[in-house]
Amino acid sequence: MKTVSSLLDSEWYDRYKKISKLNIRSSIYDVTNKCNLRCKGCFFFSSDEHKVAEEEMDIQKWEAFIDREKERGVNLAILIGGEPTLYLDRVEAFYRRIPTYCATNGIIKLPRDRFPDLMVGISLWGDEEDEKLLRGKDTFAISSKNYQGDKYTYYLYTITPKQVGKTERIIQRIRNAGLKVHMQLLSNDESVEGFNWDDANLQAIRDEMDEMLDRYPDTVISSKYYHRIITTGEMLGRRFGWQECPSITESFDNRKNPKRLIHFIRWASDLKTMHRCCTSETRDCGICKDGAAHMSWVMVNKKAHMQTAEDLQNWIEVYEMFAKLYKFIPW
Ligand code: SF4
Ligand code: SF4
Repeated sequence: MKTVSSLLDSEWYDRYKKISKLNIRSSIYDVTNKCNLRCKGCFFFSSDEHKVAEEEMDIQKWEAFIDREKERGVNLAILIGGEPTLYLDRVEAFYRRIPTYCATNGIIKLPRDRFPDLMVGISLWGDEEDEKLLRGKDTFAISSKNYQGDKYTYYLYTITPKQVGKTERIIQRIRNAGLKVHMQLLSNDESVEGFNWDDANLQAIRDEMDEMLDRYPDTVISSKYYHRIITTGEMLGRRFGWQECPSITESFDNRKNPKRLIHFIRWASDLKTMHRCCTSETRDCGICKDGAAHMSWVMVNKKAHMQTAEDLQNWIEVYEMFAKLYKFIPW
């Protein structure tokens, strides 16, 4: 049987050792059903997830709930919404109890005196034109001022098919704002015309993402293996989809012996209802491009990556990328 140490030289083995003990146990929380934007293609609103549960308003109930989540073994709380910054007391309740990551559109600045080292991921959907078309405003103009030079913030750049050939300018703007960027692909949940992927533009964006990583290694947090997986939807000859997805809420998972995130739950904001998975409840798994689900897919399949040194190094790079994005290891 192949072992990790037999496949890796000492440099890679050291990298492996740093991540092998992390034992990340994440779950996702809808902090609120409200948002200060209404983006076309937002998975939350397009699947009516904001209607399935009435938001819990009592902060003490949030605190007790988070304590229970901690007891359940969660060591990474991923806050989404709606827009979490509309309820800073809830964000703070998580932040004070569990390692926490907050997704935001960046329009409201999280006060750093209250959240000194909270990891923040700002959503960005393209250039000014795409942002105005899909989100109603150029959010970058606001968010980049709010977070300029912030060392615990990165842009989660959702690349649309219209961005092919244009990503470099965006990445330069992010670099110039003193921030990092991680890339994922739009799933076009509301079928906006002109925003669908096909084989040609997926291949083109894969090449472009590789190029951006080569040119801006201090700004782009990514890996070429991740680019390959997310653009092809394939890993080691297997196809991404419901049968392979790691990010399904435990109680919805009726598969036999799936490779999955342990005890993962996505909670609605009533703190009782659970959503099917980390993203849209109504999305067709066959077209899902969710970045975190694809990363986690690699991460839960370590054994399958132990055939060759290259496979295992690919696995390590994806794991490191995830660990950086959620502040388990430094950039
Ligand atoms: S900012 Fe985020 S939560 Fe709000 S509508 Fe846009 S994608 Fe949805
Ligand atoms: S929509 Fe995506 S994340 Fe959700 S279950 Fe399907 S494949 Fe997984």
